[in-house]
Amino acid sequence: MSFSFDITCESKPGNGDFARTGVINTPHGSIQTPAFIPVGTKATVKSVLPESMKDLGSQALLANAYHLYLQPGSDILDEAGGLSTFMNWPGPTFTDSGGFQVLSLGVGFKKVLAMDSTTFRSDDVIAHKKERLAHVDDEGVTFKSHLDGSMHRFTPEVSMQVQHQIGADIMFAFDECTTLHNTRVYQERAVSRTSAWAIRCLDEHQKLTQSRATHPYQALFGVIQGAQYEDLRRGAASDLGSMTTSGISFDGFGIGGALDKEALGTIITWVNQELPREKPKHLLGIGAPEDLFVGVENGIDTFDCVLASRIARTSAVYTMTGRFNISNSRFRRDFTPIDEECDCYTCANYTRAYMHHLFKGKEILAATLATIHNERFIVRLVDQMRSALQGGDFGELKKEFLGRYAAKPVSSGDKIPLS
Ligand SMILES: [Zn+2]
Repeated sequence: MSFSFDITCESKPGNGDFARTGVINTPHGSIQTPAFIPVGTKATVKSVLPESMKDLGSQALLANAYHLYLQPGSDILDEAGGLSTFMNWPGPTFTDSGGFQVLSLGVGFKKVLAMDSTTFRSDDVIAHKKERLAHVDDEGVTFKSHLDGSMHRFTPEVSMQVQHQIGADIMFAFDECTTLHNTRVYQERAVSRTSAWAIRCLDEHQKLTQSRATHPYQALFGVIQGAQYEDLRRGAASDLGSMTTSGISFDGFGIGGALDKEALGTIITWVNQELPREKPKHLLGIGAPEDLFVGVENGIDTFDCVLASRIARTSAVYTMTGRFNISNSRFRRDFTPIDEECDCYTCANYTRAYMHHLFKGKEILAATLATIHNERFIVRLVDQMRSALQGGDFGELKKEFLGRYAAKPVSSGDKIPLS
């Protein structure tokens, strides 16, 4: 089986205009959408067994091409039979292209991605006082490995070769991801660069698909950039949405880069009005509960984010009544589960007091149990949105959830989907 996307329900009164449910079919299985895709950056969701990810309802996992290229090397994943076999995850997989790492390890080093557009805008404050780890030019990106300092070069062609070797079911085109701090001129340049790279990705993808015809089909998603600018976002979406070369076009689309939290729904709407309706849309690196509602109601089919697992390792846990820190002393003698309403393995078997003890004692199990809970919470929340869409009562679910979820302000650092 190759790749397909079927829309199963849309345009129900009570849901958003673009909100829909569907099924993404891949050679490694199907994904009921909308769906949250947990991140296993280096072919592992940190501290959690693949079996546990399946048990908590994860339908697919997303790994990172940049990290796997550097370690262990994408050729090793190829030899192993691809990402799925290598990591013993039988379901569908995604890889992101490495474009975001270009930002986080290079030009945008130490800068905050998105969510606050009120501060300064400049392209020059990049990597202040730090050695720049990456240099972007029109052909690609030269970067220094954060592991051993060795020099490497990613071009659209190299990104496609690396992602084909890794073998995920869904790959992303190599893009230049910017921040809200970059100037308008820089954003324009990044959008046109991403467009030129998109064509090269499609060409290389087609060559590799033909030369590796014995491998399962891998789908390629184009990535829409353009920061907070309507003309740039619309232009990028209509450009990539209609892009055809070597007889092929993109199988779906990712919405990436700088996304101001307040403008998230507006930006997704602009993009959706330009992109082909029948293709799946993925929102890159967004995973806070309130943002997931905005994404789904505006037509996003899949999401990925490291937030759930990253904050779990720092003892922050989600509950239906908000997020809190389990290492707070008030939980020392609290023998109830993290969240009474949660159906995860952790909540079925362990108490807040035990979780508190594990974090205080710096026990490795703390990360495992907290990650299982947080990933289940987010996966289940999006599953509930999917059911609500089918029943036409998404608006009610949103109102009820957000009314109870007294979200504390999240520090800007949490918003960096750095893998
Ligand atoms: Zn739980």
